[in-house]
Amino acid sequence: MAAREPPAKANLLNFDRQALQEWFAQLGEPSFRAVQLIKWIHQRRIFDFDRMTDLGKPLRARLAEVAEIRLPSAAFDRTSADGVRKWLLTLDGGNAIETVFIPEPGRGTLCVSSQLGCPLACTFCSTGQQGFNRNLSAAEIVGQLLFVTQSLETDGITGRVTNVVFMGMGEPLANFTGVLRASNLMVDEHAYNLSRRRVTLSTAGIVPALYRLAEVSRISLAVSLHAPDDALRDELVPINRKYPIAELLAACRNYSERTPHHRITWEYVMLDAVNDTDGHAQALVRLLKGIPSKINLIPFNAFPGARYRSSPPQRIARFAGLLQRAGYITTVRKTRGDDIGGACGQLVGQVRNRMRRLRTDPPHGPMVRA
Ligand code: SAH
Repeated sequence: MAAREPPAKANLLNFDRQALQEWFAQLGEPSFRAVQLIKWIHQRRIFDFDRMTDLGKPLRARLAEVAEIRLPSAAFDRTSADGVRKWLLTLDGGNAIETVFIPEPGRGTLCVSSQLGCPLACTFCSTGQQGFNRNLSAAEIVGQLLFVTQSLETDGITGRVTNVVFMGMGEPLANFTGVLRASNLMVDEHAYNLSRRRVTLSTAGIVPALYRLAEVSRISLAVSLHAPDDALRDELVPINRKYPIAELLAACRNYSERTPHHRITWEYVMLDAVNDTDGHAQALVRLLKGIPSKINLIPFNAFPGARYRSSPPQRIARFAGLLQRAGYITTVRKTRGDDIGGACGQLVGQVRNRMRRLRTDPPHGPMVRA
């Protein structure tokens, strides 16, 4: 007979403070253990229980038996000409995800992935064209921040992570628990202590999840709008067929009302002759009236097989001008890291698609784009 497998150890990176308190309660330990553990792991980045000197010896031994702290590891990393750095991180199960660090004067933004691939299939996004495998665990999401924080320290690279955006691979609201726990740790004063305003969840608009999020979180919200009417949005962002614009805007208004001083960022990818006319800008102005808003225009980043072109710079400037004159704060996102495939919509990781049968992996396994 086969020997019985020892029970799997709990990866403590999966737990935010509340989940860790519940876990310690099951071990018969007081709830303040959660804060102690979170400080060791996320602030001091000590992963060996024996070095956690404020825990008694018996507890340290017990933790070593039942728990572990397992980080993703880097398969490779690349730095682009403009200083953007991208890591391919290997996960359990032979998959890999990409995480991107964008340094700027006085701040550093980490763009994290929330899923392996993406189920939403937006037509202008290479991750969406690639298919979906699974949700990332909270450990795999916050592990990206932990890993990069550690790398920035040990490699002597200047800059540190001051902002996190959930704008890598995946739809964060389709992975609610994993994303919530990871973002709770990002803003926890005993973990990363990032300001709620500097942690931004970007969504294509899963309406019921937006209402749920408004109940439990106050992080910043960016919404991938990309079109001012349902006919066009149905085509570009297919989830719109399920949750049309009016329902999405109602959910966003609700989020704003519950989050004081919060402006929603509307992301709008600029596609040549598709969504970039003066008429589209005017429709956008009417649509967003009364919602505290910022608009972020994103020049389209091409990828192999893409069916769109970016709007030319003069068109983007004119579009931005129309929105600004109507009173909206409007910025044009700088394209950075595109020479290493690290720009918006270029992240592909290494994903075995489990969803779309049409896409077959090449004979030697999925391609890794460097
Ligand atoms: N699923 C989330 C996060 C996606 S990526 C969302 O939809 O918001 C973050 C942003 O990059 C989104 O606004 C997305 O629409 C945009 N994006 C995707 N592909 C792009 C491309 N090829 N060029 C420019 N922006 C792109």
